[in-house]
Amino acid sequence: MSNMEKCPLCSGQIRIEYKNFSYNADGKAHTIPNIKYYVCSNCNERFLDEESSRKIDQFKEE
Ligand SMILES: [Zn+2]
Repeated sequence: MSNMEKCPLCSGQIRIEYKNFSYNADGKAHTIPNIKYYVCSNCNERFLDEESSRKIDQFKEE
């Protein structure tokens, strides 16, 4: 799922945004800064590419 140009759900225009990714682990809230999201401008669905998923996995392992 890289170089996404159209939303797989509605074929809307995709834009790239960098946002913090937040998750809970061990009863604590964690935030990973500057995660790349593909955001659909039509349905506002957000997608992560492989690079972002890997970054999140690495962060969780540390
Ligand atoms: Zn969409």
